Amino acid sequence: MSDYFADFAWLPQGWVPNVQIAVDAGRDRRGTISAVQADAARNSTEYLGRYVVPGMPNLHSHAFQRAMAGLAERRKSTASVSARENPAPGRVQQDSDSFWTWRETMYAFASRVGPDDLRAIAAQLYVEMLKAGYTQVCEFHYLHHQPDGKPYADPAAMSLALIEAAQEAGIGLTLLPTLYMTGGFDGRPLSERQRRFAFDVDGYLSLLRQLRKMENSTLRVGAALHSLRAVPADAMHAVLQSGLVDQAPVHIHVAEQIGEVQDCLALRNARPVEWLLDHAPVDARWCLVHATHMTPQESARVAQSGAVAGLCPTTEANLGDGLFALKPYLDAHGTIGIGSDSQISVSPVEELRWLEYGQRLATRHRNIAVSESSDSVGESLWSQALSGGARAAGVPVGSLQGADSKSAQTAKRADLLVLDHDAPLLAARAPANVIDSFIFAGNANLVRHVMVNGEWVVRDFRHRDEERIAARYHDAVQRLNDSV
Ligand code: ZN
Repeated sequence: MSDYFADFAWLPQGWVPNVQIAVDAGRDRRGTISAVQADAARNSTEYLGRYVVPGMPNLHSHAFQRAMAGLAERRKSTASVSARENPAPGRVQQDSDSFWTWRETMYAFASRVGPDDLRAIAAQLYVEMLKAGYTQVCEFHYLHHQPDGKPYADPAAMSLALIEAAQEAGIGLTLLPTLYMTGGFDGRPLSERQRRFAFDVDGYLSLLRQLRKMENSTLRVGAALHSLRAVPADAMHAVLQSGLVDQAPVHIHVAEQIGEVQDCLALRNARPVEWLLDHAPVDARWCLVHATHMTPQESARVAQSGAVAGLCPTTEANLGDGLFALKPYLDAHGTIGIGSDSQISVSPVEELRWLEYGQRLATRHRNIAVSESSDSVGESLWSQALSGGARAAGVPVGSLQGADSKSAQTAKRADLLVLDHDAPLLAARAPANVIDSFIFAGNANLVRHVMVNGEWVVRDFRHRDEERIAARYHDAVQRLNDSV
């Protein structure tokens, strides 16, 4: 047992002074919080700092894209932006730079990444996530096979590279092997560049079976369906009825692009979210990634289902996806979480800041994302993203709570961040203003120490293995550049 003390800790009810946090060291529950005591004496416990908050789950990541972040910001077309509105259904927009032109750059890059590259890139990314305050990452993983589409000797080679990277970095991983079968709603075959994503249902279920055997306190395995355009309805039902995902998280990209909504309407006579809600048992296990383009009725139905809307504001802005209508969704008690997706930004602060700012720009109002429990926007966003992220990740994280003495099942994992109380930004701040300052003010990283599963992975802003991991990442990126 290790005991820690914080002047203030962010507990489910908000900031609480003089908090003692006991972390279990026993074999079965190592790394979980065994007790949290308010109004405690400091005694001989290890002093954490002035402000301690739970680590943030990142509910959507494609790790390999970290190495191409910043490489798709040059204009490729000469068409005016106004000419691209309302593309015809089924037609990929070619007339100006868009999500679809970005995807071509991404595919070209993805075609060169092998298991060693992926391990090096992901480990670097996960170090960056930890230093920014993410302590769990959901990896939406579809880069399964060799570039020509043939499986590796071990069909799980790329999945194992992600698992090893997460272990090296010390971040919790929810691995979501992704089913990807068709190139559009019309069932067309995958293009040459998409071949390495392909699994049939049997191959996919055997991968899931293999990975689920590896689960432990920092590795959870769920399922991802790439999107409605990439997974035929019968394959979706086969996965959901396989018995392998009954208790596990299920993630899907949905309604990210207007073109996708139009294709779905044309071929299935329903909008993507509407179709999904009508044909799949969407509930609290589900994470609907993006869900950008919903009608008010769809938004209310998702909120009611208990599914998490997986919002990735910096990626959605970078790709020109559109803006999620946050206020009506929150008013309907919808659940949200945040993800770094394309890794154009790796920071929970920036995701939450831009989530709010997008709404302010669109509505010309301020302080949109407040919840019933707090009138602070920062506190509301932080606490909603914690609980939604934990739900989407399928792991007991996202709050500093002790175990119920009757059941080890309720024990939360000891994932916490110690904010830098020496930072000028927090000088003379009352606790009630700390999270708002953290989210909205300044650009200096305030995450000073990071604990995952009871172990320190970042101390005084430095990751325990960052030099070695950065050097290997540099070599991998050099190799990928040389192979063009
Ligand atoms: Zn994605």
